Amino acid sequence: MIISSITEAIGHTPVYKFTAQDFPMPKDSVIYAKLEYLNPGGSIKDRLGLYLLTSGLESGKIDQETTIIEPTAGNTGIGLGLAALKFNLKTIFVVPEKFSIEKQKIMQALGAKIVHTPTEEGIVGAIEKSKQLASEIPNSYVPLQFENPDNPATYYQTLGPELFQELEGSINSFVAGIGSGGTFAGTAKFLKDRLPELRLIGVEPEGSILNGGSSHGHEIEGIGVEFVPPFLSELTIDQFETISDAEGFAYTRQLAKEHGLLVGSSSGAAFAAALKEAQRLPNGQSILTIFPDTSDRYLSKNIYL
Ligand code: PMP
Repeated sequence: MIISSITEAIGHTPVYKFTAQDFPMPKDSVIYAKLEYLNPGGSIKDRLGLYLLTSGLESGKIDQETTIIEPTAGNTGIGLGLAALKFNLKTIFVVPEKFSIEKQKIMQALGAKIVHTPTEEGIVGAIEKSKQLASEIPNSYVPLQFENPDNPATYYQTLGPELFQELEGSINSFVAGIGSGGTFAGTAKFLKDRLPELRLIGVEPEGSILNGGSSHGHEIEGIGVEFVPPFLSELTIDQFETISDAEGFAYTRQLAKEHGLLVGSSSGAAFAAALKEAQRLPNGQSILTIFPDTSDRYLSKNIYL
């Protein structure tokens, strides 16, 4: 494949198949994991960055001189940073301090400026700071993944169709982590429109509120919410699975050591939930999950040792 923009390498990632020989589950059931960590920026959010800027340019919200500002844990910043190079746009990313230093350095490597907000203020603090910066910087635009319908639309347009085609429509459950909720909502809606019997399982870390728990800090990065994402309201979600940091990290380590799958902790959490779903359902089911990002950006957190 010869390309002239790295954005052309986004998407069409491989799907990994796990069977009962790999993990304890009913003998003919399978878990499929979409390896989104193999996107060029190392995460599923490359799709989002490209879609947000393309759509912003088409609708006239962005022009050649616009500065893009976005609150992000890092992966959306990296995705937007890659796409911004294609369109020659300046970027500023607002990142709560606790998120991994590697992600921040990658955003800087792509030419972005980083603005920090205090960890205690969470993503809500980063959203407020982004809006404040946008009011001060002329011709700036905040795509705001947490509210922008282009976020689920990205996955409805790209990931959903890829998966439906790759698995030839043979999917019984869709199990995926929820951060902004865009991946889950867009992909689930595309699949459910075609597979009405599909079970939908949302995954969160302990410390996220979707199962009625109280909001507190957690070490698994990229998933977990302080407010219910607006995108989820259009879906009937069968179950939320709440995964502890310890369990998520244990599967993240196992995926690396036994399968060479160098993924981040939200992938380990998604896998833990997918395995529980496989064990709950009768034999012969296909469970689909997503591995959103790569391990490289968490090496400093020592979660693989
Ligand atoms: N995993 C990781 C590592 C992420 O960075 C994100 C995005 N924050 C997600 C999962 C969840 O994706 P979404 O925002 O689409 O819910």
